[in-house]
Amino acid sequence: MFKKILITYTIIFILIVISLEIYLSSVIKSNYIKNLKNSLLIQSKLIALNIPDKLEKPLDDFCKDFKEKTSARITIIAEDGKVLGDSDEPSQNMENHYNRPEIREADINEIGSSIRFSKTLSTDMFYLAVSINRDDNKKIFLRLSVPLKDIQKAINDLRIKILIASSISLLTLLLITLYQTEKIKKTINEIVNLSKEIATGNLKSRLIITEKDELGDLTKNINEMAQSIEYQLHEIELEKQRLETILKTISESLILVDNKLRVILYNFSFKNLFQIDQDITNKPLIEICRNIEIVQLIEHVIKTNQSVTKEIQTTYPKESFLLVTANPYYSINEESSGAVLTLYDITKLKKLEQIRKDFVANVSHEMKTPITAIKGFAETLLDGAIDDKENAIKFLKTIKTHSERLNSLIDDLLTLSRIELGEIKLEKNNININEAIDNVFNLLSNKAKSKGLYLKKDIDPAIKYINADFNRFQQILLNIIDNGIKFTEKGGVTLKAYKINKDGKEFIEIIVEDTGIGIPKKHLTRIGERFYRVDAERSRNLGGTGLGLAIVKHLIKAHGWEMKIESEESIGTKVIISISP
Ligand code: ADP
Repeated sequence: MFKKILITYTIIFILIVISLEIYLSSVIKSNYIKNLKNSLLIQSKLIALNIPDKLEKPLDDFCKDFKEKTSARITIIAEDGKVLGDSDEPSQNMENHYNRPEIREADINEIGSSIRFSKTLSTDMFYLAVSINRDDNKKIFLRLSVPLKDIQKAINDLRIKILIASSISLLTLLLITLYQTEKIKKTINEIVNLSKEIATGNLKSRLIITEKDELGDLTKNINEMAQSIEYQLHEIELEKQRLETILKTISESLILVDNKLRVILYNFSFKNLFQIDQDITNKPLIEICRNIEIVQLIEHVIKTNQSVTKEIQTTYPKESFLLVTANPYYSINEESSGAVLTLYDITKLKKLEQIRKDFVANVSHEMKTPITAIKGFAETLLDGAIDDKENAIKFLKTIKTHSERLNSLIDDLLTLSRIELGEIKLEKNNININEAIDNVFNLLSNKAKSKGLYLKKDIDPAIKYINADFNRFQQILLNIIDNGIKFTEKGGVTLKAYKINKDGKEFIEIIVEDTGIGIPKKHLTRIGERFYRVDAERSRNLGGTGLGLAIVKHLIKAHGWEMKIESEESIGTKVIISISP
């Protein structure tokens, strides 16, 4: 900036100096000559008064005499141009002067002047000639000449003065300009730096206002602008945070797509639902959900501008049911318009619904068999079989067996529903493990004996007490050992209890092991579900309801324990209960 100003100022300065010099030189020259002319005219008039009346002898001495007084060269010339006297040269030797311009002019106008270069003196000379009309009617010319050396000197002096004054002015001007430009430069640099800071995100930076001029106003405006940007960005950030919090806390999965079905926005639940671990902004939705039904739903919504809700079954990333609601989304920027999708994972609900349906079907089915049997035999008896005493007793015994089955089914169902409803509260105490086992063994010993099976226990003597609900613990053992007896034809059932160390913690493991028919591998994972049986007919014949292990599972869970079943067909089954400390 300073360089530019310097060049401009210097050019202007040189032009001013040159024009000033030309103008002043000419003014001085003309003034000087005017003054000189006046002065010489006065002098010439005075000299003219002293010119002798008689002009016979040369007037050289007269001229010399007046030169001393006036310092001008003095020449007296006759009307015809002949030199009558001269202060500097002997007049006899001098040529006719009539052709001199000043003499010619004086001849016509009485006064004549000219400036000529004198080779002898090698300088410009000023000549002033006046015509003098003498008494004898003769005309002579008196010429005074002075070198113009002084005028040149005066002009040179003036030049030097102009140059000095101009240089001082220029220097002062440059210093002021330098100071001003430095000040402007500093402020501009500060503004540039501030804009850089703002661009890199440092919105707290501000400028210090030192000037009161336009730069001060500019600085003030920039500060206000930075403050406004900071405030607006802060507001945007707040808005973003609020939106993010809302999106994060919404349990439904949410996604916003544009009209080209590219992702604009999504929430945490959506990432979880589709097991995404990277940013998916701008990615095509089909790549993420891999479900053509979802894509078609959005396309439909964008086309019709109407909201749609649909249950969609998907296999990616896992088998699940989704309740998808798509709404049209309008944006100022048409490209960004598209649809908002909420996806609700209803897989669990669907499963529960299926379980409920299965349960109702199972219960109905389980009840129908004994009720049909009871009804059938009761009708037969009413139809006359009551009189056939032998058969009547057989029929009544069958009715009793079926009603007992119905009873135990209802008992088990009630127990199960009471556990599930939380009506059965555990009363955990330090109970005597041997006492509980012995009670169960006593209850089942006849059943085992009748099948020729043994009932053995192998308890670590160190284990005397466990923390459990006494009655519920007995029920757990009863159901498991009863199963062992039911599904074993040879051998028997052994109950073992010992301590094990798992992950630095001491557990008690209770294992009920039989030598029975075992459970085929493919059924193992489902054993324990309500009414799930390997062979339903066999179970029914053995008086089972298909709910025993479901009750056990619930009670184990209520105790905070764990249960697993290991089994091998034709070898036997192991039910393992892990009791945490
Ligand atoms: P239930 O015994 O009344 O049929 P459970 O819930 O007690 O009902 O058992 C469910 C099914 O698990 C049984 O029908 C049987 O197929 C299988 N099961 C349970 N315990 C054993 C066992 N110890 N040995 C072989 N199969 C068993």
